[in-house]
Amino acid sequence: MVPGYQVRSEDLEAITGDVPLTRGLGRAYGDAALPAAGDLRIAGSALADRVLRFDPQSGVMTAEAGLSLDELYRAFLPRGWFTPVTPGTRFVTLGGMVAADVHGKNHHVDGCFGRHVTSLRLRVADGRIVTCSRSEHPDLFFATIGGMGLTGHILEVTVQLAHVPTPWIYQEMARVPNIDAFMDALKGAAANWPMTMGWIDCLSSGGSMGRGVLFRGRWARPDEAPRAFPALRPPIPVPFMMPNGLIGRHTVRAFNAVYYRLPHPNRKVIHPKGFFYPLDVVGDWHRGYGSRGFTQYQCVLPASGGHPAVRRFLDVVTRGGNASFLCVIKDCGPEGEGILSFPKPGTSIALDLAMRDDTQQLVDQMNDCVIAEGGRIYLAKDALTRPEHFRAMETRLDRFLEIRRTWDPDGRIRSAQSVRLFGW
Ligand SMILES: Cc1cc2nc3c(=O)[nH]c(=O)nc-3n(C[C@H](O)[C@H](O)[C@H](O)COP(=O)(O)OP(=O)(O)OC[C@H]3O[C@@H](n4cnc5c(N)ncnc54)[C@H](O)[C@@H]3O)c2cc1C
Repeated sequence: MVPGYQVRSEDLEAITGDVPLTRGLGRAYGDAALPAAGDLRIAGSALADRVLRFDPQSGVMTAEAGLSLDELYRAFLPRGWFTPVTPGTRFVTLGGMVAADVHGKNHHVDGCFGRHVTSLRLRVADGRIVTCSRSEHPDLFFATIGGMGLTGHILEVTVQLAHVPTPWIYQEMARVPNIDAFMDALKGAAANWPMTMGWIDCLSSGGSMGRGVLFRGRWARPDEAPRAFPALRPPIPVPFMMPNGLIGRHTVRAFNAVYYRLPHPNRKVIHPKGFFYPLDVVGDWHRGYGSRGFTQYQCVLPASGGHPAVRRFLDVVTRGGNASFLCVIKDCGPEGEGILSFPKPGTSIALDLAMRDDTQQLVDQMNDCVIAEGGRIYLAKDALTRPEHFRAMETRLDRFLEIRRTWDPDGRIRSAQSVRLFGW
């Protein structure tokens, strides 16, 4: 959070007139939602959270950009509607979901969030308020989806919600012994299930490298779901900062070994919160990493590299020895429509990294590997990538910067991340 820097108001239009950036709930892991050095104020959208229009026939909703997924869940899931794409936390805003073009467990079927957005109302750098869509200012629309807030302040989002048969999830789980089996299992699951993902142990090596647990799911049918609505409970608090180093190689290794061997029930109907948002169960879970904190790293390795590419990447990670409880692997579908959207067909791997003296070095090594494999990183999870690395992995960058410059020739809209990666 950035107390002192953030101006929050219900009137997003009023507070975005002269600030260089808008942020949502600050769930981007790196510096995308932080002001650049010297910028004293940014807009916080969280109080601008009204639903402006909803058509119960079509499911098309328009809301202010600060509406959180948590509120949307409470208001719409009991009525049989939900966002077609959800990230792994419900404490994000619509604006943040557009800016990062978030993906979920169903990426191989439903793509990113931006695919379901029909129009945006934006305040652009010269102060004008502009509506953009696939037919109106399409360059601005596609640069804003996945553009990390750098094309303007998103004021309103119109999105097609998805109708769900019940508010419950039917889930199956399977233990998988190594990365080759995991890749095959993910591919097999993706062919038959709308939602898939896996947790892998990033510290095991040799024959059990990449062992883990595969999850596959779908919305439960009325004949298998409980009658009651799955109520949301407040997160369990972590009341104080844990000591530095508590989450280290030994504790993670022990956790991973225990988690892998847990008698995971095979099939069950579960609360959507447990399926989509396991980390939200513990509030302030980041305190577990101590005062030095942590960052995340997420990359996608193209399908053309197959299993060997994923093995080579995991090799870099296991040798680094800084991997986390959370290492999530996912099959990605087609590239998103946003010019800088993260996913491409292949395998996505996300991991927490405790901040240590050698974390920058590990990120550099992982980025070298990602570049060699023809992959890319996810800006919403990035704090440490070097500009030359990002340029080497992002062939679409010039197109994005050209559109950004057209709409913001003086470079008024910027973040700490954009200055680090692009110089403005
Ligand atoms: C536990 C956890 C799990 C996650 N799981 C996933 C996942 O599965 N898939 C995935 O894709 N992401 C995931 N994320 C990342 C998260 O979805 C994105 O970072 C998202 O952008 C955060 O939304 P926010 O509202 O908190 O935005 P912030 O973090 O506040 O901002 C993120 C970016 O959006 C921009 N932005 C926000 N609001 C506006 C606005 N109104 N106008 C213009 N720009 C704006 C900011 O400038 C910044 O660049 C996860 C994050 C966490 C903490």
